[in-house]
Amino acid sequence: MYTAYRHEPFTDFTKEENIKDFQQALEKVEGYLGDDYPLLIDGEKVTTDDKLVSYNPANKEEIIGTVSKATPELVDKAFDAATRAFETWRHTNPTARAEVLFRAAAIMRRRKHEFSALLVKEAGKPWKEADADIAEAIDFLEYYARQMIELKQGKPINSRDGEFNQYVYQPMGAAVTIPPWNFAGAIMVGTTVAPLVTGNTVLLKPAEPTPVIAAKFVEILEEAGAPKGVINFVPGEPSEIGDYLVDHPKTSIITFTGSRATGLRIYERAAVVQEGQQHLKRVIAEMGGKDTVVVDNEANLDTAVDAIIQSAFGFSGQKCSAGSRVIVHEDVYDEVVERVGERTKALIVGDPASKDTYMGPVVNQKAFDKITGYIEIGKEEGRLITGGDADNSKGYFINPTIFADAAPDARIMQEEIFGPVVAFAKAKNYDEALDIANNTEYGLTGAVISNNSEHLEKAKHHFHVGNLYFNRNCTGAIVGYHPFGGFKMSGTDAKAGGPDHLLQYLHPKTISQML
Ligand code: GLU
Repeated sequence: MYTAYRHEPFTDFTKEENIKDFQQALEKVEGYLGDDYPLLIDGEKVTTDDKLVSYNPANKEEIIGTVSKATPELVDKAFDAATRAFETWRHTNPTARAEVLFRAAAIMRRRKHEFSALLVKEAGKPWKEADADIAEAIDFLEYYARQMIELKQGKPINSRDGEFNQYVYQPMGAAVTIPPWNFAGAIMVGTTVAPLVTGNTVLLKPAEPTPVIAAKFVEILEEAGAPKGVINFVPGEPSEIGDYLVDHPKTSIITFTGSRATGLRIYERAAVVQEGQQHLKRVIAEMGGKDTVVVDNEANLDTAVDAIIQSAFGFSGQKCSAGSRVIVHEDVYDEVVERVGERTKALIVGDPASKDTYMGPVVNQKAFDKITGYIEIGKEEGRLITGGDADNSKGYFINPTIFADAAPDARIMQEEIFGPVVAFAKAKNYDEALDIANNTEYGLTGAVISNNSEHLEKAKHHFHVGNLYFNRNCTGAIVGYHPFGGFKMSGTDAKAGGPDHLLQYLHPKTISQML
């Protein structure tokens, strides 16, 4: 038996012993920097000559590790293995499958700081963000394991006289998992184990900037008892194996988190039925966001300032949930802009390996170029309050940047920047603020800071986002507490970490027997 689900607690980094433990974990990770990691196909480690190289975004010279790249031929082998393993795994008792996740959670919890420290190095996450990412990874394991055990009986349906009816769930086949680099722990783990625990088999293609943490997690799954062929590890360049994985006739499910452009490409390609394919592919796509914090005139402005800073600059704004636009009632606009500006100037930007760093680098040169490009656009479209400068001499550092007085249809108010850049716009009243908040093609998260309960009630109906938060930041959803996913161009609203998530990896089957 297992206890009721509770989320993994966050580490208190004001405590000396935790600081010491985390520093030791960083040293441990430093001890294996530069190691080489193989593919995993049918339980066999495979090494290829061609490698993905993972760098520390805070220090471009530092190699985190190298990881063998899969070729289309190796992907074929992985599909063969996954298809074979599916025949056994699909019939394995769901509780036994869930136990693989429970064991993996226990191993990961034991090595929690090590995994967080690896994220500090590989993804450039400050301690607190890395700790939350790994806590969330453990949460996905614990939560989905319990969800599967609940689902294993199916759901109750009616039977007429002389009839016995059942409604059960069956897995679908081989799943392709394509996770992002921004939650290289949590989302990588969640989107790998959701298909796995439901009885599907998995080909995991990690994000190119963060393959090492994925390689380490695959080792944990093996240690936890995932049979050969159930989890296959196939890193590679998207241009070489991305479409191949999606198009493959043996693919049953694609679970993707990443950009809108790639998500739409996958959605479209997956709709094409390939030769030899006798099923429709299912796509779970979590894409971008252009998320808004709305500040009403009746609001606690301390709460507003905290919420805006955390939403905009946590992990350098590299979250699809990031609050990259703020709409403020005109009565309090000047005060909010000024206070957020002052607080932002005091944020510590630097190496995430240092305990006091609030904001580390952005992930790579491509991100650096894109974000600094938007900063130049922002200088035309808004009034620069703070930031606006960047330095990529050692790592990819961009100072937290605020633009005020942006027009609702300005590019910096409409396009996902995925960096530490936030734009402010003024609204005449609350209704106008909500209208502006809704005027994007995305619908992922949003926050309203208000003490007016009618206004909050109105937002429940009219603020069109998948995750709506009141009087807090719009980031940091917790598994089992804030199921996560969005509307419109934000994706298929899979609600990761929610009670319906696993259903997306299952076929419901009706069985009716005459007696
Ligand atoms: N679930 C994360 C949050 O609530 C965001 C996930 C993402 O950025 O992909 O902040």
